Amino acid sequence: MTRRFDGDRILVATHNAGKLEEMEQLFQPFGVTVVGAAEMKLSEPEETETTFVGNARIKAVAAVQATGLPALADDSGIQVDGLDGAPGVYTADWAETPSGRDFMMAMTRTHSELMERRAAQPWTARFCSTLVLAWPDGHEEIFAGTVEGTLVWPVRGQLGHGYDPMFQPIGYDRTFAEMPSDEKNAISHRADSFKKLIAGCFG
Ligand code: IMP
Repeated sequence: MTRRFDGDRILVATHNAGKLEEMEQLFQPFGVTVVGAAEMKLSEPEETETTFVGNARIKAVAAVQATGLPALADDSGIQVDGLDGAPGVYTADWAETPSGRDFMMAMTRTHSELMERRAAQPWTARFCSTLVLAWPDGHEEIFAGTVEGTLVWPVRGQLGHGYDPMFQPIGYDRTFAEMPSDEKNAISHRADSFKKLIAGCFG
């Protein structure tokens, strides 16, 4: 049985102001106040696991231990089938440079490796978003969301972030970076995991 959330405060283990605002709106109908990681002066734990759920759990459990509040954390990335699932949990790492993240570099590397491997087209891939909701008594619920698509080259579009310009969801002829945010947000991996969270713990 999935445990229902019956508290009135939830710690959202992110330092990203945009994500926090999204969560506030999401939980408002359920009378749940969102507390952010920065507000509680939480540090960001190292993501040392090799799976999305492993890394989301590290963030959620660290936040519970630091605050005593139930905490929600997510981990996300893109899995490319022709690269055996890479970059996966290392999606952000592939973009890391001494002067910040460079996703054009990460997408170029992805394309080069697909070409080197002579990976058959279409280059199928999926964005993944895994949520872990952890309670102070150790109970946790896990919700995994995905959106399937193919990788395009050259990349197209100026909107969004990360790998959006390279990812075209199945059934569309535009990449995520060519879609207005409300259109992307309705079909994204995050929309999927959040729908499952709401249905499982708040519905
Ligand atoms: P994290 O979940 O904050 O660890 O981020 C994982 C990485 O995956 C991010 O740096 C993003 O660039 C990438 N990623 C996750 N979701 C999306 C998305 O919707 N579009 C593009 N890139 C994404």
